[in-house]
Amino acid sequence: MVQGDPWKNALKQLDDACSILKIDKGVRDYLAEPNKVLRVKLPVKMDNGKIRVFIGFRSQHNNDRGPYKGGIRFFDPEGGLEYMEKEVKALSAWMTWKCAVVDVPLGGGKGGIYVNPKKEKLSENELERLTRRFAFAISEIIGPKKDIPAPDVYTTGKEMAQIMDVYSKLSGMENEPGVITGKPIALGGSLARNVATGLGCAYCIREAAKTIGLKLKGAKIVIQGYGNAGTFAAEYLEKMGAKIIAVSDSKGAIINPKGLDSKKVLEYKNKTGSVVGYPGSKKISTEELLTTKCDVLVPAALENQINANIAKKLQCKIIAEAANGPTMPEADPIIYGKKIMVLPDILANSGGVCISYLEWVQNNMGYYWTFDEVAKKMEDHITRGFKDTLALSRKYKIDMRRAAMVLAVNRVVEAFKAKGLWP
Ligand code: GLU
Repeated sequence: MVQGDPWKNALKQLDDACSILKIDKGVRDYLAEPNKVLRVKLPVKMDNGKIRVFIGFRSQHNNDRGPYKGGIRFFDPEGGLEYMEKEVKALSAWMTWKCAVVDVPLGGGKGGIYVNPKKEKLSENELERLTRRFAFAISEIIGPKKDIPAPDVYTTGKEMAQIMDVYSKLSGMENEPGVITGKPIALGGSLARNVATGLGCAYCIREAAKTIGLKLKGAKIVIQGYGNAGTFAAEYLEKMGAKIIAVSDSKGAIINPKGLDSKKVLEYKNKTGSVVGYPGSKKISTEELLTTKCDVLVPAALENQINANIAKKLQCKIIAEAANGPTMPEADPIIYGKKIMVLPDILANSGGVCISYLEWVQNNMGYYWTFDEVAKKMEDHITRGFKDTLALSRKYKIDMRRAAMVLAVNRVVEAFKAKGLWP
């Protein structure tokens, strides 16, 4: 079942922020609609010699603070192609707000191809031809000073390298690493990129814990989704002294109240294909996972996981949204009423785009930092983003989600107003 409409959710969040900031309708409408949504046809010759047509998108939401920035996903949401277009639009708007919250001078974009390479078992060659065709189709609107894509659901450094190669050759530059981030290190990728979202999320949780007086040593953590963000959040939280008690992946959820060893669980998953069955753990349902009594719940899977029903049963002190849009708007007032501190996605998972930004800076200057230098710069952006959001949440007496949106919208409006409207 498709739950919720991400585009409507994105607009509702914007409307809330606009009413708090008393932004007039014209400016609200300007902020709502993406600047451009490109829908492209992607004919690809398959291994059997037949042609198959795929559809791809790139939504460029806002660039008042800098070039568009955001991932490219290869995915087939349950709602189909039209749903994906709305989802990509919503995600591009969230990128605008995400960059603004952590004060990264970039705008918001998102794109993707309606395809599930895992389910469909596309061969390496088919996937490469599809990726390069997509790069060709969007090459006119991307560029290091225009729009800088990055990996997202089911895309990796490999696809980023192929997109960079196509763009570089088409633009006559041969080697233009600044057109895309999340590249392999050998092509100008940044150190700390692979851990970025999880590490950023752990920094954000650390700041939140300090604020509510929660000791991270011994704190119980539940993680939904044991992919890149979830595994590294687990690893760094464990390093900070916390205990991971339950985790899940697309095949199911497991719990061990005494604590799970994050690295061993990952090794087990890599070996068997799932966390389910990990020695010493008990299998539980997704609902049980989300509503387990714990200190910090980290939804690190897909959108719309926490609805009103789940929200009523939550038993955590902090929710750190490592995924994009895991909480449905209907759940927000319930969570706020229960005095759970929400670290909204645009703040909690912004580590990814912070490192992307730092990768782009390194590409532009042609000089590369160490892992520690990059991680420290990212930590500064996230810690400041958290503090600025907390200050607004106290000032307006609103939850952290609305505070983060107020902070972000205000920063974009400031840039828009400073430039003015032309032509
Ligand atoms: N796909 C990631 C996100 O949603 C990263 C985007 C980027 O680095 O540009 O934040």
